[in-house]
Amino acid sequence: MSQQSLVFLGAPASGKGTQGRRLADRGGFSYLSTGGLLRSAQRDGTELGEKARPFLDRGEYVPDEVMVPMVIEWFGQIEGPAILDGFPRTLAQAEALDAAFESAGLPLPHSVFLEVPYEELRRRVAGRLECEICHWVTSRGHAEECSKCGGAMVTRADDNVVRFESRLKEFERLTFPLVGFYEEQGRLTLIEALGSPDDIHTELRSKLSL
Ligand code: AMP
Repeated sequence: MSQQSLVFLGAPASGKGTQGRRLADRGGFSYLSTGGLLRSAQRDGTELGEKARPFLDRGEYVPDEVMVPMVIEWFGQIEGPAILDGFPRTLAQAEALDAAFESAGLPLPHSVFLEVPYEELRRRVAGRLECEICHWVTSRGHAEECSKCGGAMVTRADDNVVRFESRLKEFERLTFPLVGFYEEQGRLTLIEALGSPDDIHTELRSKLSL
């Protein structure tokens, strides 16, 4: 069977980007970070960026009416399996994604939930750096240039204490219920995402048989 697409669920700084990107870089998957796409759009001053700005500035989710068409359009342009980092984040998004897979005649995506205690999330977010071009993630103390594309490694505007707490609340209220949604359908793999990125990557591949 061809590889199944994967969606990564997890609180902010749980490692969705790090792990999703690593798995995609091994080959075989197209990769989309919806947060990365929104930050690029905001930086470039596009219409999408301007629509998303007030929500990103408050650490709130961007409405489904903006997110769903954006991802479905991306999905229509790729071939083969995908890794989605940060989508779906609401039940309506998960249902719209399933409907898109169904109408394309593809097996429904499998989800990976990265579980991390809140204290660890707070610690990670305080030291996180992201490439402003390709959204590769490292932590403070690493090179100032992205090892993937040479872009500048910067602190995300929404990685401050106030916005982080707001993003965490949004996660608990709107995204955490998706864990149950996927679990009930046998489409969930849970990873206790503590430890080094290499160890988590190894566990992920072993649990997913990749
Ligand atoms: P991330 O880079 O995944 O942490 O996303 C950063 C921010 O982008 C989130 O806090 C949301 O404001 C917005 N965002 C990203 N993906 C979604 C989504 N699927 N639904 C709603 N908002 C999103």
